[in-house]
Amino acid sequence: MTDKQFQIDNLGDKPVCELCYQRAVVIHHFISKGASERLRFEPLNAIKLCYLCHRLIHEQVGYNDKIIKKRGKEWVDKLNKIQYESKYTDIRFR
Ligand SMILES: [Zn+2]
Repeated sequence: MTDKQFQIDNLGDKPVCELCYQRAVVIHHFISKGASERLRFEPLNAIKLCYLCHRLIHEQVGYNDKIIKKRGKEWVDKLNKIQYESKYTDIRFR
């Protein structure tokens, strides 16, 4: 898997921005690539965004909350679980 392929796979044919329903052009990592290597290619961590929403999410504090509101707490918990479990696995097999 490459970053480019991850973008292509998760955008699909007619991508729609999850926040404003305009045409999505980018996959945003809800948990950044720097924060979790395991979530780098995790589809659950992939948020379809249009150009403007993606810009705002990086520039405006609290904009991320909009995604949490849309996707729900269960989704956040699942994501955290994957992140935590991968760390655990990494430690065990080091
Ligand atoms: Zn948008």
